[in-house]
Parts: sequence; structure tokens; C-alpha cells
Amino acid sequence: MTKLRRLLAIAALLLPGTALAQKVPVLLVPDRVFTATDRVVHEGWKVLVADGRIVAVGPDVTAPAGAETRVLPGTTLLPGLIDLHVHLFLHPYNETSWNDQVMKEPLALRTARAVAHARATLMAGFTTVRDLGTEGAGDADAGLKMAIQQGIVPGPRLLIASRALVATGAYGPKGYAFDVPQGAEEVSGEGIVAAVRRQIAHGADWVKFYADYRWGPGEPSRATFSLDELKAGVAAAHDAGRKVAVHASTPEGMRRAVLAGADTIEHGNDATDAVFALMKANKVAFCPTLAATDAITRYGGWNGAAPEPEAMRAKRASYAAALQAGVTMCVGGDTGVFAHGANAREIELMAGWGMARNDALWTATAGNAAILGMSDRIGSIAPGRIADLVAVAGDPLKDLSALENVRLVMQSGNIVTNP
Ligand SMILES: [Zn+2]
Repeated sequence: MTKLRRLLAIAALLLPGTALAQKVPVLLVPDRVFTATDRVVHEGWKVLVADGRIVAVGPDVTAPAGAETRVLPGTTLLPGLIDLHVHLFLHPYNETSWNDQVMKEPLALRTARAVAHARATLMAGFTTVRDLGTEGAGDADAGLKMAIQQGIVPGPRLLIASRALVATGAYGPKGYAFDVPQGAEEVSGEGIVAAVRRQIAHGADWVKFYADYRWGPGEPSRATFSLDELKAGVAAAHDAGRKVAVHASTPEGMRRAVLAGADTIEHGNDATDAVFALMKANKVAFCPTLAATDAITRYGGWNGAAPEPEAMRAKRASYAAALQAGVTMCVGGDTGVFAHGANAREIELMAGWGMARNDALWTATAGNAAILGMSDRIGSIAPGRIADLVAVAGDPLKDLSALENVRLVMQSGNIVTNP
């Protein structure tokens, strides 16, 4: 390492998250590589990166003249991880309730938190996330995305959903004698198409609808938007080249989402075999958000011991039915309900609750990239892909908690952390 490069490296450590621009090719030499494409680890493989892209991967890759070699003993190198359900503008509900975050936290505070959350996400090896709504923080996600893209603050590649869309009166905060700001944009009837287009104009990469919700405290969730409303909204999004995520917990909300043409369905707490069969037939992916249910149940006082509360039992049953049905799975923890940077919890839970570990890792990388329609750029280690990579201590195919021990994160070929 030259003196200048050493100084730059020290500067990068002093300014956590500052990308150390890689001017020369880098040969990464971990103990093993999980490319995602074949779902196995390859002992002794190496990865060559140049100009922000993966150039070569395999056992016999050598460093060209002038390249830097980085030996990463004891690690497994993976594609940058992807979380398809985060809320960077929320922080854990056991710190502040959702209601108080939406009602009492000024936008600047929420944005400052989101900046910190974006950094924590990237440092945890999650190089791409889909943010499914600012929950009352307006269009601030679009500005955060620009700040990351312009290198002003560190963060993952963002796919954003702007304010998200709820049926008029269905969402929250609720229970006030006058209209209060809501956690998402309220629409009904013909207004839904205009709202979709407005959100896209404000930067939405994905359009998110809430297909069901609780109308009052203590009530069960009920379908909100009519099928026609959802169909019109989804069609407007698809016409604009945007995919659609739908929050739905009830079988009827999920059924309407599928029939309307949703690309992913979030939560599915009370799903049935029939609705998963419908999802499978229509190729709709399922984000079970297991980690959010786990966190919220613990915030309610559960300590993880048997017997499990009803919400957890229902979630396990729904997830098992989805696996059984062969629905395309998506890794998205609803991160923000619990701490940003702990995104890997969802992968660990999905494996702990019945998915093979290598399938869970594939889903969090290549699978999620396919859902985004970005398989040609991210989600696997192959020549030509963007060099988004993470090295973790240990072998996650033997123990997924290895994902919590990040040793190096590379984003677009730049090393952003190397603790
Ligand atoms: Zn969510």
C-alpha cells in the first residue's frame, strides 16, 4: 500500500461510510464464495473487481499487474444482500410508538434518523433495499435517495415507494376529533390513478397500496380498496413501468391484490392455502415479514418462550403454507419496526422456520434481485455484475448468524467498510 493509499484508507476509517474509490483492480481472496447462482459455497474461490464491476470469479482467478489483493481470512464472500421491505424513516416501536413517530417527530429529525439508518443498513452488508413508504415523512425518501446517489451520505441502493397509498380513512393515526396527518396518502375512487401518477412523478420506483387495514382499534383487518380501485391503480403503475407492492394480511385483501396484478404481497398474516395457490398461479411474490411480527410480539411482552402468542402461531402457519405452496419468496423484514442494520434477522427466521439455509441466502440475493427486475446487475457474483459484495466471518451456509459479523462491504466496486 502506498503512503497515499494508506492515508486514504485511514481517512475512510475516520469517516465511516466514506467510499474509498478503487482506482485499481481488486482481487478479493476470502476462504469461500457464495455466488448465489448455484446456491452452494465454493472453497478457495476468488473474485476480481475492476471499474465497479465483477470481472471474474473462480478458483484460478489471478491479480493483473497493478491490482490490489485483499486477503479476507476466515470469511465467506456473498453478493450484496437485499432487503425488500424496509422503512428508513421509522425506528423501532419499542423506542417510540408508530403513532408518536408520525405525529410528534419533526421531518428534519425523521430525515436525520433515516440518514443514520441508511448508513447502518449498508454497513450490515445490505447494498440494495426497497423502502416501502415514508410513513408520514412525505417524499423525503426521494431526497435521501439523491443524497446517497450523489455520495453525500452513505447508504444502500434505494428503490422507493414515496408516501404509499391507503384507502381514505382506513389508516392512521386514528381517533382524533379532526383530520390529522396520515402515515400514507389517502385516496378513493377515481383519485387513485392521479395519486399513483403523482407519487411516480415525485420519485416512486415502486407503488405501494394497503389492501386491508383495521378501521378501528381492536377490529380485525378488513379489505379496504375495492377490486376496481386496485386494478386501476396497479394498471396506472404498470403503465409507468413501476412494479406494485401490496400490504395485505387478510385472504380477501390478498385475493384482490393478486387479481389486480400486484407484483409482491407483504405480510399475509392470515393467508390461506387457497390464496397462496392463487399467488403461485399468478407469479406474485410473498414477503412474509417474519421479523416484524417477532419484534412486535416481543414489544408486547413475549420473551420468546413457549407457548407462542397467537400472532406468532398464525405467522408460522401462513409462512409454512406459503413454502408448501411453492410461492416465490421475498426477503423483507419490515425493517424499521426493529433496528436498521439488523436486516439479516429476516433471513435467519426464514431459515429457522423451514427454508433451507442456502435457499434463504439465494432468496436474499438472486431471488430478491429477480423480483426487482435487476438480475442482470445485482444479486449474484458473476462477470459483468455491479460489484456489490459483502464478506462475513464464518460460513453462513453452516450458521446464518455469520451474517451478523460483516468484515467488508463493497458497493459498486468501492470498499465502504473494512472494520
Ligand atoms: Zn412495512
